[in-house]
Amino acid sequence: MGGFAFALKTFGCQMNVADDDALARELAARGGVQVTDATAADLIVINTCVVRQKAEDKAFSFVGSLKPLTEGKPPTHPVKLSAPKLLAQSDNPARTRSRPLIAVVGCLVPKSGEELARKFGYVDLLVPTSEPAQVIAALSEAMPLPQPSEAASSSFSAPSPQLAVSCTAAAGGSDELRLDTKLSGLVTVQRGCNHACSFCIVPQVRGPEVSVPVSQIVDEANYYHRQGFNEVTLLGQNVLSYGSDLGFSPDFAEMIEAVLERTEVPWISFLTSQPHDMSKEIIRRVIAHPRVTPLLHLPVQSGSNAVLQRMRRGYTVEAYEDWIVAVRDARPDVFLTTDFIVGFPGETERDFELTLALIEHVRFNDAFMFAYSPREGTAAAAYDGQVDLAERKRRLAALIKLQRSVAHQINTKYVGQVLDAIVEQAGERQAVARTPFNKPVVLPRTSRKPGEFTKVRITQAVVSSFKGEEVA
Ligand code: SF4
Repeated sequence: MGGFAFALKTFGCQMNVADDDALARELAARGGVQVTDATAADLIVINTCVVRQKAEDKAFSFVGSLKPLTEGKPPTHPVKLSAPKLLAQSDNPARTRSRPLIAVVGCLVPKSGEELARKFGYVDLLVPTSEPAQVIAALSEAMPLPQPSEAASSSFSAPSPQLAVSCTAAAGGSDELRLDTKLSGLVTVQRGCNHACSFCIVPQVRGPEVSVPVSQIVDEANYYHRQGFNEVTLLGQNVLSYGSDLGFSPDFAEMIEAVLERTEVPWISFLTSQPHDMSKEIIRRVIAHPRVTPLLHLPVQSGSNAVLQRMRRGYTVEAYEDWIVAVRDARPDVFLTTDFIVGFPGETERDFELTLALIEHVRFNDAFMFAYSPREGTAAAAYDGQVDLAERKRRLAALIKLQRSVAHQINTKYVGQVLDAIVEQAGERQAVARTPFNKPVVLPRTSRKPGEFTKVRITQAVVSSFKGEEVA
């Protein structure tokens, strides 16, 4: 097969985006040219996520919109008709006509593969993972995909059976945490989750934790640094328990130390973290390290121990608060963000008030806040005491109001501070830079190019950003 055009469409979390970046590099190394317009593609890969119903609905809708592309297109490439091992379904009569090869990958496949096959007979491949090596392996069996050119080095290792269950998003809302992939190289370090939070479907569809080898993580980080990235973000469902499948040898701190020692990436960030797995060692060796950015996203979910217990989070409010004290002692500049779910089944008005009190007490710099939404297949969806939707919305509105007010108060402390930042946009009339804790600073101008470091003085804190000026 000669050159071919491919389009990648991602729904869900930053880890899906990271997988797509790696997949795009692999396909490019095999002669592929990435296009944004699916109608111009020979290969369309749809990377799916089921953590949120919205992402799942969007994926179904997008796959449905591809039907016209499968009809009346001139031949583009031959496709094998035999079903590769990884395919849940390939018995597709339409394959006798050449047209774009359509692959749906990621965790929607194990959950809803049969429904996808039934509704969209023109989908050629259903791959139950978005892990790039596994997707390449599946694609290679379905189309004549060349080996990577020697000049274009592969950045990930051969497929491992252990990685068959893959793809992640941060449950409980942190998939909404925005990272700018133009500024931060996203490196997946772990897939799956060993916890069993009662509201979360991740462990069912993605299986237990599987750690990416340190050498691969280091290679990926170095790849991004060579591409000009000054920040790399290490992604996992719960990065704090990195190495759980390896007997914690290495563990999270050792993995981070390897990245720090074997790369020169100036800023290392990580997402996301289950408070249950926090430790003094992680605080001392990772969070306090000057090349680790001060952004700590530690989802607490609720300020009520009764609710945390029903959520099966495995920690108490008191334990969470103790960790925050220890983190702030070790890293006074920490920018603390969290997730909240309100209106969880059985949450009383008193429970909700405890969550509001936690906001007042801990004073988070930012939070991602959601009204509980039952997810089919989770334990919590079958719980008694489901809270009325209007009440869930009322609690969410009150939570957002309080959190915004607290965040505004504490973020004004940055006014007057001079911070390192990475330039994101450098327009003629306005520039934007990102602080080490991922908050944008709007500047009147900058002399630097996007991706470069600058220094900014914060002049004003607004709700979701800062205003500032470049310091010469
Ligand atoms: S820690 Fe809990 S919420 Fe996070 S992925 Fe695992 S089961 Fe889901």
